Amino acid sequence: MSFNMILFGPPGAGKGTQAGRLQEKLGIPQLSTGDMLRAAVAEGTELGKQAAEIMERGDLVSDEIILGMISERIEKPDCEKGYMLDGFPRTIGQAEALDDMLRVSGRSLDYVINLKVDNEELKKRIAGRAQEAIDAGKEPRKDDNAETFAKRLESYNAQTLPVLGYYEERAAEGVLHHVDGMQEIDTVTADIEAIING
Ligand code: AMP
Repeated sequence: MSFNMILFGPPGAGKGTQAGRLQEKLGIPQLSTGDMLRAAVAEGTELGKQAAEIMERGDLVSDEIILGMISERIEKPDCEKGYMLDGFPRTIGQAEALDDMLRVSGRSLDYVINLKVDNEELKKRIAGRAQEAIDAGKEPRKDDNAETFAKRLESYNAQTLPVLGYYEERAAEGVLHHVDGMQEIDTVTADIEAIING
C-alpha cells in the first residue's frame, strides 16, 4: 500500500505529535518542514540563517525555500511508499506546487487530515510545550512564546486557512477529513487510523 497524506491544522494542533506516532504504524515517514528548517538553523547553513529570523517573528518562510526543501526530500528512497506532510502546505502556492509535484511523479494525494482545536487550547498547549522544555533543562523553541504564537496564528489565519478552502473545493475527490484534535492524543491517533483503514 502506498499513500500520501497531509496533517493540517494551526500551530499547536498536534500535527507533529500525531505524525510522529503514525509514522511507525503506517510505515511512511513524517516530513516536517518546521523540523527541516530548525535543523538548518542549528547547522548554521545559509538557508538556516535566512529562515531563523522569519521563524522567530512567526512569519512564513518563502515558498521558494520551502518548495526547494520539500521537492528534494520527497525524492529520497524512504518516500517510495508515500509520506506524511506535517506543516506543509501552508500557502495556496505550496498546495498548487504539491499538486504539480505529485502529478509529475504519477502519485496522488490521498488524505488531508484537518485537526480542529480551538484557539484557547492552542495557546495553552504552546505555553505548556515551552514550560516542558524549560523543566527538562532544554531551551524552548524561540517561537513558543505568547507574542510569537499570536503572530503564528495570524499567519495561519491569513495564509494557511485558505489552503483548507482549496481542498474543500475538491470535496468530490474525498480527500479531506476533519478530526477533533481536542480529544486525548490516543483517541486522535485512533480516529486518523480509522480514516486511513477505511
Ligand atoms: P512548525 O514547526 O510547523 O510550527 O513551523 C515553525 C515555523 O517554520 C513556522 O512558524 C514558519 O516560520 C516556518 N515554516 C514551517 N513550515 C513552513 C511552510 N510550509 N511554509 C512556510 N513557513 C514554514
